[in-house]
Amino acid sequence: MWLLAEERLLTRVYRAKWRSDSPVSCGLCGEAPESVAHLFYQCRVSTAFWREVCAATSLAPFHSLPEMWEATEELRVRSAPGHARHVALSIIPAGAWVI
Ligand SMILES: [Zn+2]
Repeated sequence: MWLLAEERLLTRVYRAKWRSDSPVSCGLCGEAPESVAHLFYQCRVSTAFWREVCAATSLAPFHSLPEMWEATEELRVRSAPGHARHVALSIIPAGAWVI
């Protein structure tokens, strides 16, 4: 999550800074350069994934990293202390990891 927050994930756009022969198109959809913003908030594949996560957790859809943090905080506030809170706090990071 820190790498995501700092936009230091090894996306194809990031990798192309060092390897000019590296493909930059998104590995999920192939329709746009694979930047952090595209990969997590703009890609049709990841937005469909997040739409399902938000529907399952009754969260408002998020379209930016700050909104993603707000959603995580909302899950924390809504969940009961203990094990349920740990599970709730893992949902968005786990989803980001899957992407
Ligand atoms: Zn994409």
